[in-house]
Parts: sequence; structure tokens; C-alpha cells
Amino acid sequence: MYSIITALVKLAEEMGVTFHYNTTVEEIIISETEKGRKNKKVVGIKIKNPRIVKYDHVVSNMDIYYTFKKLLPKEKSPQRILNQPKSSSVIAFCWGINTTHKNLNIHNMLFSADDEGEYKAIFENKTISDDPTVYIYISSKHVKEDAPDGCENWFLFITVPHDSGQNWDELVKQARKKMIKKINRIVHTDIEKHIVCEDYLSPPIIQKKYSTPFGAVYGNSSDNKFASFFRHSNFSKTIKGLYFVGGSVHPGAGIPMCLNSAKIMEKVFSWK
Ligand SMILES: Cc1cc2nc3c(=O)[nH]c(=O)nc-3n(C[C@H](O)[C@H](O)[C@H](O)COP(=O)(O)OP(=O)(O)OC[C@H]3O[C@@H](n4cnc5c(N)ncnc54)[C@H](O)[C@@H]3O)c2cc1C
Repeated sequence: MYSIITALVKLAEEMGVTFHYNTTVEEIIISETEKGRKNKKVVGIKIKNPRIVKYDHVVSNMDIYYTFKKLLPKEKSPQRILNQPKSSSVIAFCWGINTTHKNLNIHNMLFSADDEGEYKAIFENKTISDDPTVYIYISSKHVKEDAPDGCENWFLFITVPHDSGQNWDELVKQARKKMIKKINRIVHTDIEKHIVCEDYLSPPIIQKKYSTPFGAVYGNSSDNKFASFFRHSNFSKTIKGLYFVGGSVHPGAGIPMCLNSAKIMEKVFSWK
């Protein structure tokens, strides 16, 4: 996954792109042309300090919901699209493990014995399942330097509903317990005593850290075959020079879809 990023950065830099890391965009600046309100166009972005940087074209990779709510506060937002049901989220842990597990591989799925019950808990009861499906990723199985000798780096998560006001501190505690119990049973270990460092993500933390509304990690819900076409398009129909890419817009979430959104955006850009 990470090599996709490093390859794209290398390619972009070779083509003359400059990246400004750790720079939060606070607003996309729009101007009305001499022909009036119907002929708006992008003129730049506002970043911290505050400083305005002029651009003729802006591509927002921020979730479309916050692109409108935070970066375009004066523009009419497409409420019908922004109010569509949101996708699920995750409770994820990063664990430093001071031992190794021969019976685990790079990618590991510990499935629920009651998948229907799991979906019901997440999508109907808006809570976590009693028997959640646990995904465990251990990159040190493949890249030895990712963990010290004799140790493993675990990234593990369960699917949970997006944030609609649940008590997440409590749900994270419960999730941790259930995940440990399941891992111990299936992997034949006593994992808790091997956790030497820990960090975690919950829907509210994901919302705050990555500007992902309600912590819904796949943007709007993709629960019907037309969902891709109900998402926001990859360009603005009313503001010249404004484009949208990433998991919250057409065609959808996930790395291949996000990369396709950029490809579509690039095609639209060359037509205009
Ligand atoms: C736990 C988990 C596991 C996943 N596993 C897979 C998988 O196996 N395969 C797969 O294909 N997909 C997977 N996905 C989904 C995939 O990660 C997402 O669909 C994809 O990363 C979304 O890409 P994006 O560019 O739209 O958003 P992001 O990757 O969230 O990138 C947006 C970036 O914009 C930054 N940003 C936000 N606001 C601003 C601002 N105002 N100014 C400057 N920067 C800003 C954010 O900090 C962030 O870095 C997974 C997601 C999660 C959460």
C-alpha cells in the first residue's frame, strides 16, 4: 500500500510537483467573474498564518462533506448528497508484541461465527458485535525491520458503525476485551501479556484526526448498485477550476477507486 504512495510522490516530483506537508487548507477561495454569480471560479486557497496562495485549479482530496462545510462555507452545499446515509467505521489497535506467532501470516482474518448477527449489530443496532470479525495485519512478517528481533507489529481492527453519539470509550474497552478473547482462542496465545505498547482509533478519533465526518471511513454508504453514481462528481458544475477526488466522491472508497477518481478528474480537466 505504502509503495503506491512513494511511487506517486516520486513520479509527481519528477514532473515538477512541489508537496507542502503538514499544511492544513482552511478555505478554498472563490471569486465571481464579471458576468456575475453564475460564473464563479477558483482563485486560490487559504492556509494557516493566514496566507492566501493563488491557484487557477484546486483539487480537494478532503472528504466532500467537510470540503463544503469547512473549506467552502459561503457556497451552497449539495445537501442531498451530503445527507446520504454514511458508511461504517472501525475500532483499530496498533500493538507492539514482544513475541512472534508462527500460526499467523501477513494478513489474517478471524471470522465471526455469526456473520448475520455481526451485520445486525453494526448496521441495525449501531453497536459492536459480541463475536466481531477481527482483521490482523503484521507487516514485520514481510518487512523484518518493521519490528525488533523476536517481536511483531500488529495492526488490527473490527468494523463498527459510524459515530451517531455512542459511548465510544466504553465500546473501545468492550471491543478490546472481545478481540483479545477471540485471538487467544483461535491463535492459542495469551496476547494481552505480550502487548508492550498500544495506540487505537475509534470513529470520533478518526473524525478528528483525518477530517472524516462521523468517522465513516468509506464516505457515503455503498449499499446499492447505483451508489457510485449518487456520489458527488469529480468536478464542480458551478465553480470553474474546482475538482474533487478521494474515497467520498465518485466512484467510491478503497485505494483502486480513489486512484480512479483521480484518473477521471484528470480526464475531465483535459476536456475543459
Ligand atoms: C482501517 C482501514 C483499512 C482499510 N483497508 C483498505 C484496504 O485494504 N484496501 C483498500 O483499497 N482500501 C482500504 N481502506 C480504505 C482506504 O484507506 C480509503 O478509501 C482511502 O484511503 C481514502 O483515500 P482518500 O485520499 O480519499 O482519503 P485519505 O486517505 O483519508 O486522505 C485524505 C488526506 O487529506 C488530509 N486532509 C484532510 N483535510 C485536510 C485539509 N483541510 N488540509 C490539508 N490536508 C487535509 C488528511 O489528513 C488525509 O491525509 C481502509 C480504510 C481503513 C480506515
